[in-house]
Amino acid sequence: MSTLNILSDPQPAPRQRLPKWLKRPLPKPGMSYTSHVIDDLNLVTVCESAKCPNRTECWSHKTATLMILGNVCTRPCGFCSIAKGKTETVQIDEPERVAEAAERLGLKHVVITSVTRDDLPDGGADHFYKCILAVRERTGADIEVLTPDFRGDRKAIHRVIEARPDVFNHNTETVPRLYHRVRRNAVYQRTLDLLIQVKETDPSIATKSGLMLGLGETREEVLEVCADLRAAGCDMITIGQYLQPTPENLPVERFLPPEEFDEVGDQVRAMGFKLVASGPFVRSSYNAGEMAAVLGTDS
Ligand code: SF4
Repeated sequence: MSTLNILSDPQPAPRQRLPKWLKRPLPKPGMSYTSHVIDDLNLVTVCESAKCPNRTECWSHKTATLMILGNVCTRPCGFCSIAKGKTETVQIDEPERVAEAAERLGLKHVVITSVTRDDLPDGGADHFYKCILAVRERTGADIEVLTPDFRGDRKAIHRVIEARPDVFNHNTETVPRLYHRVRRNAVYQRTLDLLIQVKETDPSIATKSGLMLGLGETREEVLEVCADLRAAGCDMITIGQYLQPTPENLPVERFLPPEEFDEVGDQVRAMGFKLVASGPFVRSSYNAGEMAAVLGTDS
């Protein structure tokens, strides 16, 4: 007789085998240098924390995306492997350490991101401000920020705009129908409003957003989101394949072949974005410097 095991915890979904187009290159010599700089300065990267599949390639080219405000997030997003729970104290010397890392890595385009800090009154906006200023002063590099939504707090968003990053990136991540599963505690309209606020406040700042595909969205929904982003004045968009970082995260619903990314990219480009990157390995910070250079934000 079979028994129902109704008390056991649900088992994480098994991870699917990756299709052949999702294999990545082996590490090259620059990788250990990047690793050494990050460790030496006691910094955190989203490359490691989010288990980015491009880490080998980016770090081999001495490129990394620095993650400020700690390694613990206050939001339970289903796609993200970054630890959730008790957050860390904001480190006042972090802006200087971020600037030193940018200098030692020789970065010409520095991407700074953070965990979501809903526990801080300004969501960490002032810390972003200080990091941007420190990096600019020390290296003269262009700066791209990839920020959380600051719970839609316009004053906090304004603080980051005041530091005049060259690119202000805020990811949409997925289509609104899937927010409750993929991006819990986020609000689709709030994401659009943030991008609108940046453009309206300082049109010289390039705006950027990103989407992950393979989470159960339809093509129609993706195109609707892209149309909304364009209407919000968004300049650049990145579209990549969602990969399940740990067994506890959402499973991949579908691996889209590269040709499908090309097709989506063409459809989105036709909407009038200044730059569209669409491919299985595209991430919001992947080749960020090259994207910004094409757009002309690099000096
Ligand atoms: S794509 Fe971005 S997050 Fe991923 S390894 Fe490269 S720099 Fe890091």
